[in-house]
Amino acid sequence: MNDHQTGCPMFTYPGNIHVHSSYSDGSGDFDQIAADAASVGLSFVIITDHETLAGLSEESILNGVVVLVGSEINRLHSHYLALDLDYLIESNENNPQVVIDRVREAGGLGFISHPFEKGHPYIEKGKAYPWKHWPVFCFNGLEIWNYTSHWRGRDPSLFKTLYRFFFNRKAAMDAPPREILQLWDCYNISGHRVFAIGSSDAHATVYKLFGLLKVKVFTYRYIFKTINTYIVLDEELSADFDTARKQILSALREGCCYISFDSLSPGRNFAYYASLDRSNVLMGGETIFHPGLTLHVRAPHKRAVIRMIRNGQLVAQKTSPSFEYKPSGPGVYRVEVYYKPLIGNPRPWIYSNPIYLIHAET
Ligand SMILES: [Zn+2]
Ligand SMILES: [Zn+2]
Repeated sequence: MNDHQTGCPMFTYPGNIHVHSSYSDGSGDFDQIAADAASVGLSFVIITDHETLAGLSEESILNGVVVLVGSEINRLHSHYLALDLDYLIESNENNPQVVIDRVREAGGLGFISHPFEKGHPYIEKGKAYPWKHWPVFCFNGLEIWNYTSHWRGRDPSLFKTLYRFFFNRKAAMDAPPREILQLWDCYNISGHRVFAIGSSDAHATVYKLFGLLKVKVFTYRYIFKTINTYIVLDEELSADFDTARKQILSALREGCCYISFDSLSPGRNFAYYASLDRSNVLMGGETIFHPGLTLHVRAPHKRAVIRMIRNGQLVAQKTSPSFEYKPSGPGVYRVEVYYKPLIGNPRPWIYSNPIYLIHAET
């Protein structure tokens, strides 16, 4: 898509960053995962099996989907998604900072996964895998919305969980946990650049009911239509695997990406950028604050409520698919878009990465 107001070409591509295959505790192989991703229009998936890079030699474009391989390091708690690695980094739950540092030293890209996971008393005997050692530093990003983890921690009530599972799945994904958003803002406001991703944590686990009936909970196809991360590129995603791999990982590394709860409405073609004269800064980027700057937001559906967040605080809101906002000073500016259904309250839908407007002297 070309933004005609500024001549800024932007292309957005949906993907899912946290997926388990049969190399660990997921049920599908790469072909099946790619086929299911293709069937719902994803452009890429990143398979992050537990403590392994076994699928690395299978990285390729499969069924038109770019399939990349990372690993989810640490098993007992403090799960860390590590991408862009040639070799596996050892787990270290006692000191996850060591894992973060090793991934960085290896040139990898690391995201803290489900930092405050709560678990559910009726699932896996109440097991949860939160982060236990704070603070940690020098990680690239934070998973602010994880579909599977959110389901587990949504409500301890069995009745409500079953109701939502069978009759109202959208209702289960109310919003990213407030404490994760606060953590994310806190790092960014204090000068630690941390980018956000959202994911499915898909396993497509098969359960046996009454010892006979096999039921797959949250198939890959279903879950790939829920919480996705979109990358933003200034040119089209390449059909050449090596080039596409670089494009995807660079966009994630630079925070040029956003999260969408696609079950409400697909997030493709969301745009958020800063402009001054004819130069633009995209999500994840920084520029010196200038009174002539404008922050532009374009939502991909007319039923949008756009919220501008500065340093973790709501500073403006507009019920419209587009919003041009004049920032009043330096700060960390990010955008939340709510989707306004025909009936009921607006629902949290899209979360941008920040644009950093800095003081001239810094
Ligand atoms: Zn995990
Ligand atoms: Zn996982």
